[in-house]
Amino acid sequence: MARQLLQQCLQCGAWTLATTCPSCGGNAQAAAPLKWSPEDHRAEIRRKMYNVTDANWASSLASLPSLDEMKSVHDASEEE
Ligand SMILES: [Zn+2]
Repeated sequence: MARQLLQQCLQCGAWTLATTCPSCGGNAQAAAPLKWSPEDHRAEIRRKMYNVTDANWASSLASLPSLDEMKSVHDASEEE
């Protein structure tokens, strides 16, 4: 819990527990990412945040080009 309380200023790099920097008044944000757990206590919150139950969610994910597209790009780069 304490890791999430520590903030670092984005402008000057000073450390603080507040979200505004005591040195320069700039924005400070969490100094370390949230602790990861295999039990994933925040999964429910994250699913809501990314709206994964929406029918269009899957189409918003990144995807690779098709195999034919990759082959044509590969062939073109070998000719150079
Ligand atoms: Zn600062």
